[in-house]
Amino acid sequence: MDRLKGKVAIITGAAQGIGACTARIFVQEGAKVVVADMNETDGRAVAAELGENAAFFKLNVTDYNAWKECVAVTKATFGKLNVLINNAGISYRKDIAGTSLEEWDRTIAVNQTGVFYGMQVAIEEMRTNGEKCSIANASSIEGLVAESAFFAYCASKGAVTLMTKAAALYCGENRLNIRVNSVHPGYIITPMAYDDARQNGQTIEEYSAEFIQKHPIGYLGKPEDIAYGYVYLSSDEADFVSGTQLAIDGCYTAQ
Ligand code: NAD
Repeated sequence: MDRLKGKVAIITGAAQGIGACTARIFVQEGAKVVVADMNETDGRAVAAELGENAAFFKLNVTDYNAWKECVAVTKATFGKLNVLINNAGISYRKDIAGTSLEEWDRTIAVNQTGVFYGMQVAIEEMRTNGEKCSIANASSIEGLVAESAFFAYCASKGAVTLMTKAAALYCGENRLNIRVNSVHPGYIITPMAYDDARQNGQTIEEYSAEFIQKHPIGYLGKPEDIAYGYVYLSSDEADFVSGTQLAIDGCYTAQ
């Protein structure tokens, strides 16, 4: 408890899945949270469940002006911004031959450009607030190793891995008191996994049975496994942790 006491966080993609779980655990740990998502119905429900410690903001991460407004609303509502979790993301189960131009553009816009926008706007605010700040970006195991079935996704998540390091270096070199890290989940059972199973023509049980084989630990992950990674990286426990890649993947990338 209270690992994030006094921190104010924006969590993107927090209407469901890993983001919603992270919002709930952040509030349990003492943070105030802006649930930022383009899914207004589910996002508002998550914020309502969390009461006065949370607010919803309708954010499309591909809209730079909306990012500016999101940070302004966060400051107006909770007084400051300490933490950004760039969690929103999309995936298409498409290899290089099957990826359409639209799927490529959309994946890069949400997963890569959205993370750039969020980091730039957040750093602009955080650099003058005089408190310890942290940004954590959702990459993936597919930002460390490739899987042919996810061509555009691998491109976007690989970019996030190095964008994170470049931003962390910038913040360090300029003594901004902002740490920047990336998180690399293995397969986690969320609505994205159900959607991926559907794209793969499988039930979630068939899908889980197939992809457990790639995780030597012998099981797939749950949203809490990733949320607690974000708690650690966003807390003062991680004071000396910046520019790193936290794989939470049941040994997927250890092989
Ligand atoms: P999810 O699909 O369950 O939830 C994603 C959320 O992002 C949704 O609420 C959606 O509305 C929101 N979103 C999508 N596009 C958006 C946009 N343009 N602007 C704002 N919000 C938008 O996904 P998840 O499984 O919870 O994954 C969360 C993050 O973790 C993603 O970046 C994903 O790539 C990454 N990840 C997930 C897994 C996994 O197995 N589930 C594995 C590795 C990495």
